[in-house]
This record gives sequence, structure tokens and C-alpha cells, in this order.
Amino acid sequence: MIPVSEPLLAGAEAKYVADCIQTGWVSSEGRYLAAFEQAWAEYCGAKFGVGVSNGTTALQIAVAALDLEPGSEIILPSFTIISCSLAIVEAGCIPVLVDVDPETWALDLDQVEAKITNKTRAIMPVHMFGHPVDMPRLMKIAAKHNLKVIEDAAEAHGAEVHGRRVGGIGDLATFSFYANKIITTGEGGMVLTSDEALARRLRSLRNLCFEPERRFYHTELGHNYRLTNLQAAIGLAQLERIDDHLKHKRWMAASYAERLHDLTQLRLPVELPGYRNVYWMYSIVLSDDVPFDAVEFAKRLLQFGVQTRPLFLGMHEQPVFHERGLHLNERYPVTERLARRGLYLPSGLTLTIEQVDAVSEAVHRVLA
Ligand SMILES: *Cc1c(COP(=O)(O)O)cnc(C)c1O
Repeated sequence: MIPVSEPLLAGAEAKYVADCIQTGWVSSEGRYLAAFEQAWAEYCGAKFGVGVSNGTTALQIAVAALDLEPGSEIILPSFTIISCSLAIVEAGCIPVLVDVDPETWALDLDQVEAKITNKTRAIMPVHMFGHPVDMPRLMKIAAKHNLKVIEDAAEAHGAEVHGRRVGGIGDLATFSFYANKIITTGEGGMVLTSDEALARRLRSLRNLCFEPERRFYHTELGHNYRLTNLQAAIGLAQLERIDDHLKHKRWMAASYAERLHDLTQLRLPVELPGYRNVYWMYSIVLSDDVPFDAVEFAKRLLQFGVQTRPLFLGMHEQPVFHERGLHLNERYPVTERLARRGLYLPSGLTLTIEQVDAVSEAVHRVLA
């Protein structure tokens, strides 16, 4: 079986973790945490990093830190993970959906302004599968309407737009370091910002809103979303090798493209001029003339020992939001197509050329 994703823990991870254990710094204080926060912020071009327990809690405190009045609207893509909508709803705000671009599968900026109302306060672009959103254009739209921007960069570590890394462009940016992300801490996440007041707020929210001068005195409710020194130690070791991880992802994408580009029944990931896609997962979409959908495609590939994963189901198709009166009767055709006709192929950091050959051969056979 060729697994869909595998992490690569081949550097100083064990050494740094052993150091945490030997020195007793195993909770959320210690030098690896501060070092990882600073190094990751620097890598992405932001001033401050706030480590948290995962990418979902990162989104939760990023939205909470904006202190929006209940009922404020936040625009996000319909094609994304539930973490984005969840963070918005939990903050008492309203998620407003926009479909994604049919080529990059990231937020379609041509459709954003039509969704802005006098209640809109923020936009949450998601750099989908490693292809960045057009951030310069998005920041202009945001500035024109006085909106905050939260980048969800969980899938796009190291991706670039016109020479700038994602995660350092919006007012806030969130990352996940889950085991299948480009660098991992097992479970983990981070929020980045260059605004000192927001950074202070994020640190407070992740740590129960303890008052700095008067411990155990609280003026608001926070969370325990702390990242441990142990996790940060793994993250720091991973960050030392991020260039290798990114090289491997780009090698994977080029290798699959070389073997699959002749299949007219497939749409492959793109990299628009001026962008650096990091190809988090190699996602492919069946064209309409293929007589079966992604579920059947996945079943047939599995018969060749190829593991795959479906793409996200749109936020407007989630019963949990319909029950709250959200997104009823909304339609987002690109999102709906991706959900039904797309999947991703084995894309792990240990993927070999023999596995790429075998996967590509299986795809050819299934579509023959
Ligand atoms: C993985 C992911 C998250 C959530 O991260 P967790 O660490 O699993 O909570 C959020 N947004 C996107 C786009 C993701 O891919």
C-alpha cells in the first residue's frame, strides 16, 4: 500500500526532544518554544509568533483577538476545512462564503467585493493545497473597505506570492504543524502577526487570560491552547530542513505532472506566474467526461494499492451550519465540483520515484 501522507523526522528532532526531557523543560515554557516561535515568524516575514496546540486553535484565537462585535461578518472560501468556519462561529461572527478559483482552488477575488456589506469586518483567505491567494490584490480590497485579513496558511508553509512568503502579509496568519503538514510538531500550530498589541492579545488568549500583574485575576475568558516545549523542539528541527521538504514537494509535483499531463480526463495543480506553489498534497480533478466520480476513482485506485483522500466538502453543504440557518440554498459550483470530482494522490515526504511511477501507472490504468 502506498500511503497518502507520511512525515519525515530525519534530523535533530530526537536530539532536541531528548534535551527537553533531560533538562525537565517539557511543558509550555522553555527555550525551544521561544526559539521556534521566533524562527518561524522570521521565516515567514512576521514580527511575532504565538505557538498554539493546533491549526484550529490558531484560527480560534486569531479571530477572537480581533474583538469583533457579535454579528460581524467574515468572508472566507466555501472550499476549506471546517476549522475556518468554526473559529468564526465560535467568536459570535457570521461566516460569509465565496467560491474558489477554478484553476488555483483558492479564494476567488473577483467575487469578494460583491459579498462585502456594512457588517463585514475581516477576510480569511486560505492558501489551498499550497497555492497562495493573490495577497497583494486581496490586501488592496481589504484596505479599501477597512477590513482585517487572517491568512490561513496551514497548507502553504514556504509558499510565495511575488517573492513574499505567505504568513507575513495579512494582519494575522495561522499555521498548522499537524503530522501531514509540510513541517510538523505532531500536533501544533502558530499565529503570526507584526502587530505588538495583537501578539500580546494572542498570548493572553492562548493562556487562560492570566493578568500579567495579578495572577489568578481574570477580566475575560481565555483558553488553554498552549504548545509544549517538546513540540517546539520537533518544530525547530523540522524548520532546519524545510528547504529539503519544499524541494521534495516540488519534485513530487513535477514528477506526477510529467507522468499525468497527457491524460485529458484530469485537471492537475497549477502554479500561476509570480507564485510559488508548495504542492502540499498533489490534488487532481476528474473532468466531466469521466463516467464516475471521485469516490469510485478512489476505490479503483485502492485496488492498485494506492491510498488517496477526498477533497473538502463545501461549507455550504454542511448540516451543522444549515441547522444554524447558515448557507441555506447557497450554491458554489467550483467547490461542489472539487468535492465530487477531486482527490489527492500519495504526497508524503518519504514518497519515492518508484511509488510515483506505480501511482501514475495506476491512474493511467483506471482512466484507460
Ligand atoms: C490542517 C488545516 C487546518 C487545521 O489544522 P489542525 O492542526 O489539524 O487543527 C486549518 N486550515 C487548513 C487549511 C488546514 O489544512
